[in-house]
Amino acid sequence: MPRKFFVGGNFKMNGLLADIDRIVDHLNASHLDPNTEVLISPPAIYLLHVRDRVKKGIEVAAQNCYSEKQGAFTGEISPLQIADSRIPWVIIGHSERRTLFGDHDHVVAEKVKAALEEGLNIILCVGETLEQREKGETLKVVEHQLDCVKKEVPAWAEVADRIVIAYEPVWAIGTGRVATASQAQEVHSDTRTWLASRVGKEAAENTRIIYGGSVSAKNCQELATQPDLDGFLVGGASLKPEFVDIINSHL
Ligand code: PGA
Repeated sequence: MPRKFFVGGNFKMNGLLADIDRIVDHLNASHLDPNTEVLISPPAIYLLHVRDRVKKGIEVAAQNCYSEKQGAFTGEISPLQIADSRIPWVIIGHSERRTLFGDHDHVVAEKVKAALEEGLNIILCVGETLEQREKGETLKVVEHQLDCVKKEVPAWAEVADRIVIAYEPVWAIGTGRVATASQAQEVHSDTRTWLASRVGKEAAENTRIIYGGSVSAKNCQELATQPDLDGFLVGGASLKPEFVDIINSHL
């Protein structure tokens, strides 16, 4: 079975209610490729509102979660609460979480485990910094990030259909400096090889590996031609009408 193309929009901490409504209404009114899985991830405070406003076929994701079910963790939201709110997805390990909020590899791994236990689907973000790329450490860094999650989730093969991996080179996020199609393909292909050897052949064949980092309507077509690239995680451009062109880039 071919992997279904997947495009997610990560709004980050952007937009007020009126802006979010405008974006959602534009998506609702647009023709979206039925062969592409579409998801948007508004700030947590707007999740329920967006869940109720989007048309059928557009899914909603939280941008983060904590690894405990409930308790004295001021400011956090739990996977249990996300699931209870009928939000089916959560993004975990985004580089902004890793670099600005202390979500190190083992924290990310614990969050993935906790979210899987609540039945959530996960977009697991991985990716190297510019310094790591320049030192030739890209594949090693990404594999290490995946290894950390595998350690916490030894039964990954059983939940592989609920994990999308997003390769997001840190140097490409929000910088306008997109990875070339071949740079992305190299990491995606290596990630698929990692899946085959650490998780299993079926997971390697079926897992969507999507790219994120300065994706735009201009560059998405070329990236989408790469054999191991199964979609996009879009930041800045997901707030603009061009997000529809990115969703439809695989038509
Ligand atoms: P960007 O962000 O598209 O604005 O570079 C991507 C992301 O952070 O997911």
